[in-house]
Amino acid sequence: MTVESPIPQTEPPRDCPLCPRLVALRQALRVEHPDWWNGPVRSFGDPNARIAIVGLAPGKQGANRTGRPFTGDFAGDLLFDTLSKFGLSNGRYQQSLYDGLALNDLIIINAVKCLPPENKPTPLEIATCRRFLAQSVAALPTVRIFVALGRIAHDSALKLLGGRPGAMRFGHLAEHVLPDGRILLDSYHCSRRNQNTGRLSREAFEAVFARAVALRDQSDQK
Ligand code: SF4
Repeated sequence: MTVESPIPQTEPPRDCPLCPRLVALRQALRVEHPDWWNGPVRSFGDPNARIAIVGLAPGKQGANRTGRPFTGDFAGDLLFDTLSKFGLSNGRYQQSLYDGLALNDLIIINAVKCLPPENKPTPLEIATCRRFLAQSVAALPTVRIFVALGRIAHDSALKLLGGRPGAMRFGHLAEHVLPDGRILLDSYHCSRRNQNTGRLSREAFEAVFARAVALRDQSDQK
């Protein structure tokens, strides 16, 4: 089973050849774990969403294994719990493609579509994959709020959306008004590392989505 993208015209081919280091890792993992997804991870969610999460890249045991963003890894547990709490998902997340979970008024797109070694894409890989992020953003005209998970997602989204990097610095709960009036809202990434080191608490993460929902509702009234 694979996850169908809600915006299939924006996705890279399954054997996208553009980042040699990531292609080599993908090919090695296809041999080691032939039952894993091991390909560029597609967007997941509502194609008419008003909120878009911009993630970093697939996790090895999460999206790279299952094929659905954040599904099956530590980061996904907090993320999907939080989305449910704020009415941004329907159904019960069970760490599996088969759980029937749907996102409501929210879509997840990634800054980098393929698994990078140590979760660290290089600047060139981030820049190379931005063409697909750009295609995703262009296909989502209803989005009013972008939630960037981590500095890399913030920087890549900002470059794409025309923000001023010097004036719009990354910070947890920092809010940036983009030239077209849309909002970029920052969060620390919900990675295992950030949670285990105490950089990101459940409450601090929930505060981001409380704010995203409030901004979405405000934008309705304008
Ligand atoms: S990270 Fe993006 S650009 Fe690079 S190989 Fe994967 S899909 Fe292609």
